[in-house]
Amino acid sequence: MVSTRVADLHGSPVRAMLAAAQQPGVISFAGGLPAPDSFADLNFPPPPTDMLQYGPTEGEPALRAALAAELASIGLDCPAERILVLTGSQQGIDLVAKLMVDAGTPVAVEAPAYLAALQVFRFFGARLQILDRAVPLAGASPRPALAYVTPTFQNPSGHCWTAAERGALAAACDAGDTVLFEDDPYRDLVYDPCERTPVCARLTRASWIYQGSFSKTMAPGLRLGFLAASADLFPHLVNLKQAADLHSNRLSQFYALNYLSDPDRPRRLRDLVARYRHRRDRFAESLQRHFADLADWTVPAGGLFFWATLKSGADTAVLLDRARGENVLFTPGEHFLDASRRPCASLRLNFSHAEEAAADRGLEILARLVRQAAI
Ligand code: PMP
Repeated sequence: MVSTRVADLHGSPVRAMLAAAQQPGVISFAGGLPAPDSFADLNFPPPPTDMLQYGPTEGEPALRAALAAELASIGLDCPAERILVLTGSQQGIDLVAKLMVDAGTPVAVEAPAYLAALQVFRFFGARLQILDRAVPLAGASPRPALAYVTPTFQNPSGHCWTAAERGALAAACDAGDTVLFEDDPYRDLVYDPCERTPVCARLTRASWIYQGSFSKTMAPGLRLGFLAASADLFPHLVNLKQAADLHSNRLSQFYALNYLSDPDRPRRLRDLVARYRHRRDRFAESLQRHFADLADWTVPAGGLFFWATLKSGADTAVLLDRARGENVLFTPGEHFLDASRRPCASLRLNFSHAEEAAADRGLEILARLVRQAAI
């Protein structure tokens, strides 16, 4: 009845938890949601009515120009003509998979990697290979057609690639003709100094796609992201987007441009980063208080997640079943890994959404459940 393509298609486990996470009394570490009160100081002036008309597939010219200037300021030179506004950066993953992946196409991904990207690549039949940061793409056979990475405050590990790691990946893509797909939605949520220059900026010959998002610093409900791409790939991506949705929501684009050109933006971003840094630090203290003898983790220098691994090796999918009964949610690590890595003792914990006292309570409950399971 339906196409064979959807026979093995499943919904996202994180999205399935989203409704439960909004219930009163539930403490959620599950999604990557901004703090709800962070939207309060955004400015939404009435949009001009011509924004209600159909618009260009590539996006609003003024927004594309502003994005090109932003990219230049972080070291990535790309003309506005090669910026494509997206309906969320999730759309970029879908478009790039459509562009690059046939059944059996080798795609290199980090382990762990963003679960909704893994789902899309699998949907198009990719043969996933693990990309080792220390020796990227070395000995990969067959040679990956595409490498998908989130080098800056990765979801879920929180890792930020060093300059050497970035250089090695760029060199490997150049040497092997592997297309680099760099996903960078967390780069502005930086709490400690670290290298953040896009890996795409270091390429000399490989084709590339770089993408960013308005979801984490502005508002995910706008569903707005953007990509920049090398000249060989860009026209295909525009055509694929045309088939998907003609263009992204023009009202959202109007608000995004307004946000980018607001003289108050640096102040707002500084405040947001300071709040999240504070939350991260309180979260690290709570983890230390409740999990010191139960798990290992590193404190992320940016982004929205802690990635912790239980010393006992217990399956965190089983832990989630128990935690649900106590109104605490998180994302089990297995969703970010290849099926062969299951059961998985890691868990992803978001620290931006739950306020600090609730987060401490939630971690205390999780620690108790881990101890009970060990008895
Ligand atoms: N890429 C990564 C690595 C993400 O973590 C997310 C959101 N969690 C996305 C892409 C999609 O974000 P959006 O569609 O909201 O821009």
